[in-house]
Amino acid sequence: MIHSSDEAASPSGDNGTLAPATRVAHLGLDPARFDGFVNPPVVRGSTVLSPTYKDLVGHTGRYSYGRRGNPTTEALQTAITALEGGDGTVLTPSGLSAISVALLSLLGAGDHLLMVDTTYRPTRNFCDKALKRLGVETTYFDPLVGAGIAELIRPNTRAIFLESPGSQSFEMQDVPAITSVARARGVFTLIDNTWATPLFFRPHAFGVDVSIQAGTKYLGGHADLNLGTISAVGKAWTLVLATHGDMGICVSPDDAALGSRGLRTLAVRLERHHASGLEVARWLAASPYVSRVLHPALESDPGHAIWKRDFSGACGLFSLILKPVPEAAVATFFDALKLFGMGYSWGGFESLAIPFDCSDYRTATRWQAEGPAVRLHIGLEAPADIIADLDQALAKMQAAA
Ligand SMILES: *Cc1c(COP(=O)(O)O)cnc(C)c1O
Repeated sequence: MIHSSDEAASPSGDNGTLAPATRVAHLGLDPARFDGFVNPPVVRGSTVLSPTYKDLVGHTGRYSYGRRGNPTTEALQTAITALEGGDGTVLTPSGLSAISVALLSLLGAGDHLLMVDTTYRPTRNFCDKALKRLGVETTYFDPLVGAGIAELIRPNTRAIFLESPGSQSFEMQDVPAITSVARARGVFTLIDNTWATPLFFRPHAFGVDVSIQAGTKYLGGHADLNLGTISAVGKAWTLVLATHGDMGICVSPDDAALGSRGLRTLAVRLERHHASGLEVARWLAASPYVSRVLHPALESDPGHAIWKRDFSGACGLFSLILKPVPEAAVATFFDALKLFGMGYSWGGFESLAIPFDCSDYRTATRWQAEGPAVRLHIGLEAPADIIADLDQALAKMQAAA
């Protein structure tokens, strides 16, 4: 059955209780509006014509101007809002611009921001440069702070920014402990939820005001897109919508269509990333060349209890610390990998590996690694092939050590 326009945001019977795989297959679609075509057309356009003078001056149309949205971008926004359970969603041209627009929406000169120390590095850069120049002071805090965040709140603290698990090092944050303090003190909370996506962790249900995704990663899912989404509730939504509009931020209809297409397979891909990632992580944890695996879904991980309490899955991204070997041996390991690409970003169908060292960009905590650190993204290849590739590369590394 083709559902009617009225049900666009919530396909037949979807009051949020259907399984995620069912929801992502339909959210935002409205075939009856587009002559039965399953997907909305890719609408290119700046000018939107009004039929009469009265319509023009009365702003009666559903759309007003290309920058302010069209059927293609609206379909994705509608879907993300329903998936996140927010009051509304805006799209941005990248994950980082979603972060910067969200922060600029809530902060002004004289305000204080609490930022998790383990945040994505470019987020930190934005705080230390642009926000500082605009008169916003940032204090970094330990991701394990929990309810202790209360002691860091000042009279001018306006927002707390979370990212769980942390970038590169995967520390889990106690989100509900932090949001309950923030709510009581009238402080906004934001989260970079790119790792979990709203399928594995639902920020608004845990009291977070602003939920950000780098849609570049799992939403796109094919390493061919840069996109950001900001979902928000209450007063934060009013502020985000206004600032996003004032700044003139918009995304191309082609990119919005790719985001919508990625959404249809998000649940099935994440299920596979979860299972394969965990299988590879367990294999690595048992390797004689590996000191530790940083993956919150592993029972041995320090953040496992929080992950189990709040999250319903893990994606394919995690890290490991190798036992000490010379840098030349690390280079041998990376160069020997055949299935893993070496490159930034993640969330696509392909496996990726990068070395990292957080010691230069942590200030509230100290990064201590007993050996070389490696971040892996486990793609959609068969796990046995991925493990065999790691096995031969680790053996070559050891031979070169
Ligand atoms: C990649 C990433 C971003 C930024 O997304 P871009 O589209 O590259 O700007 C933000 N947060 C996290 C956690 C990311 O991994």
